Amino acid sequence: MRSLGIVGGGVVGLAIAWRAAEAGWSVTVFDPDPGRGASWVAGGMLAPLSEGWPGEEQALEFGAASLARWPDFAERLETVTDTSVFAADGVLTVALDTADAADLRTIAEWVSRQGFELWLLDRAGVREIEPALSRGARLGLFAPEELAVDNRALITALLRAAVAAGVEFVAKEVTSVGTLRFDQIVVSAGHTSPTVWAGLPVRPVKGEILRLRARAGTTPPPEKVVRARVHGRSVYLVPRADGVVVGATQYEAADTHVTVAGVRDLIADAEALMPGIGEYELYEAIAGLRPMTPDNLPLIGRVSDRVVVATGHGRNGILTTPLTVDAVLAELRGDHLAEAKHARPDRFPGGKR
Ligand SMILES: Cc1cc2nc3c(=O)[nH]c(=O)nc-3n(C[C@H](O)[C@H](O)[C@H](O)COP(=O)(O)OP(=O)(O)OC[C@H]3O[C@@H](n4cnc5c(N)ncnc54)[C@H](O)[C@@H]3O)c2cc1C
Repeated sequence: MRSLGIVGGGVVGLAIAWRAAEAGWSVTVFDPDPGRGASWVAGGMLAPLSEGWPGEEQALEFGAASLARWPDFAERLETVTDTSVFAADGVLTVALDTADAADLRTIAEWVSRQGFELWLLDRAGVREIEPALSRGARLGLFAPEELAVDNRALITALLRAAVAAGVEFVAKEVTSVGTLRFDQIVVSAGHTSPTVWAGLPVRPVKGEILRLRARAGTTPPPEKVVRARVHGRSVYLVPRADGVVVGATQYEAADTHVTVAGVRDLIADAEALMPGIGEYELYEAIAGLRPMTPDNLPLIGRVSDRVVVATGHGRNGILTTPLTVDAVLAELRGDHLAEAKHARPDRFPGGKR
């Protein structure tokens, strides 16, 4: 049996570990605290179409190829763990002013031209889907094929699936892959991946996010993911069984302190979108570090005869996990996955062999 060492057990490393073990590898994951990085903090939105923009064909293609894999990936995970990870189907983006309405029309036209389904909705259409939204929502863009997962249910299920498949865990930080004695190594250490494989163009981008719980008598949480821009800032509400996740701020920073300004903006923007949310209980404010690359696409591929990297998933690492797993398994077989070609690490000097 060939051996595989995985450095970093976030959503990316855990999913690779599980599927590689099922494919016959003897897998060991190194992580001092598996599943508690950015993957624990995230919102869990799977929305590559709603985030489409003219000129960003590669991101759309990559994200859509992973979204298409999500139902099978989740079903497989459910078979092994008896856990359903989906939190919502359908993503509704609303415009609260005329400039945003114009942008939604641009997205709808461009994304539809790439062959994906998006619906434009008038005020009444928006309220029909989500009656609790602000009356200021003048136009909606609905993506029926997009999804959301409960990221923490996902992490818990992946840990269980990995253990059930025979993956071993070592609670240790790896400082150099040279010390690891495995036939193959995967570096999936999120924003700290460059400390494990020097030169990878990955930097931390901070994001704060809130978790709110509905209380007796409050407006029920939305059924769909809801997104908008308020005062030029992006805000989204991702449903959970007991409430919503409100995300997310974005700064070029490497600390995980939750700031007063971040919480204030998220609450104000969420209330502008769904006024009833002010009555919810705020039970968690947390920050995480997205592993970002210069072009916002991940780095997935071989960087040496023994090392494959799977990192730099930025704002969309939950979305792009199923495609990443397939691409890494292909690399381990000595093959390439065509749909992952935009993520080749050798497009940057630090990712060359
Ligand atoms: C606020 C916020 C909201 C987000 N919302 C979404 C969303 O809605 N949808 C979406 O798709 N994505 C979202 N993301 C992005 C997503 O969370 C990340 O892209 C994804 O979690 C990256 O996964 P990862 O496994 O690469 O990294 P991580 O989850 O950070 O895991 C890396 C792991 O590596 C370990 N590690 C690090 N260094 C070492 C070392 N030297 N040795 C051993 N182990 C090490 C860490 O302990 C950690 O467990 C969001 C992120 C944030 C911060």
